Amino acid sequence: MTANPTRVLVLNSGSSSVKYQLLDMADSARLAVGLVERIGEETSRLTHTPLAAGGERRVTDGPIADHDAALKAVAAELAADGLGLDSPQLAAIGHRVVHGGLKFTAPTVIDEVVLAEIERLVPVAPLHNPANITGIRTAQALRPDLPQVAVFDTAFHTTMPEHAARYAIDVATADAHRIRRYGFHGTSHAYVSRRTAHLLGKDPSEVNVIVLHLGNGASASAVAGGRCVDTSMGLTPLEGLVMGTRSGDIDPAVTFHLKRVAGMSADEIDDLLNKRSGLVGLCGDNDMREIRRRIDEGDEAAALAFDIYIHRLKKYLGAYTAVLGRVDAVAFTAGVGENAAPVRAAAMAGLEGLGMAVDADRNAVRSDEPRLISPEGASVAVAVVPTDEELEIARQTYALVTA
Ligand code: AMP
Repeated sequence: MTANPTRVLVLNSGSSSVKYQLLDMADSARLAVGLVERIGEETSRLTHTPLAAGGERRVTDGPIADHDAALKAVAAELAADGLGLDSPQLAAIGHRVVHGGLKFTAPTVIDEVVLAEIERLVPVAPLHNPANITGIRTAQALRPDLPQVAVFDTAFHTTMPEHAARYAIDVATADAHRIRRYGFHGTSHAYVSRRTAHLLGKDPSEVNVIVLHLGNGASASAVAGGRCVDTSMGLTPLEGLVMGTRSGDIDPAVTFHLKRVAGMSADEIDDLLNKRSGLVGLCGDNDMREIRRRIDEGDEAAALAFDIYIHRLKKYLGAYTAVLGRVDAVAFTAGVGENAAPVRAAAMAGLEGLGMAVDADRNAVRSDEPRLISPEGASVAVAVVPTDEELEIARQTYALVTA
């Protein structure tokens, strides 16, 4: 008798890249991880690490024409390590899908109806959903017999009440164009809020958590008893915190002003706010390591960019304290949140009145494990909780196909 299949391949398909991980859900072990970059260019690169087979990283350079060729190359790499996609041990393929609108509140087995709905959401996620669809179609062609599951970045936020999700604009116009706050990074907010509750020895239903997902993209969420009640990203991932290259919150009139006074087109303004703003717009760098290095050398532009970043974080910490009423924990996660101790210290400085503080020695510890950085006995637990979106996608995918 063959044992039930326990492996899940997680695919995160971008417009010119595919990130992947193969996990065994029997013990949540990562068997292989990799990335195909610059798909469609002459300088494509596939980086593959077969963790199960000793962990030697292999890098292959050379043109990869499209997503189909990319996935076939990934399949060949996996097969070389005895982890081929034709394996009977593969239970499902889990896809990260950025926008699930209001319809998809949970992971969903993909069929033509589901694909059509993801397609219908392209106008609200023009950068992401088309690439996700391409990834799904390519994987379906490779293993048509296997369940393919969509795990949506927006799903965790669908519990937001109407008063948090609606913009205060004309209702008919908003509804006609599906304009509302959807939120993103939901897989990370779900995983980190749950892990934070476990770190406190509690069930997620017992605790209120503010999650600060601070990567190149950044978002905050207010999670009450395991359910998201507010989050900082909105119709698109542009709203909210200051990010690596995105402005976050601005007066919407800035856009009319740029059009009327600077003569910029909608596409040019889109490019400015998404790619040439945030930390990079303020000081030319979006990597927090580089910004800290420049601050240490006395660079004023870097110092001001850092202060603006921190000021916005504090505003959201205050706002979500008010939204939640009682905060049990604040969790820092993603590239900046997990690694940049000065960001954590600065964000918490002066918030003693809200019961929030960090202990300098605890904050300086580097570790891959979830850990508390607040002082002993603090009323609000401040934690660093490394995120793991791939594990969460695999977990949700496996739970759905084995239910
Ligand atoms: P992510 O989008 O979660 O991969 O985060 C990427 C960002 O994390 C980078 O742009 C850096 O700003 C930041 N980052 C990564 N490692 C460190 C580090 N050791 N110290 C400070 N910031 C870091």
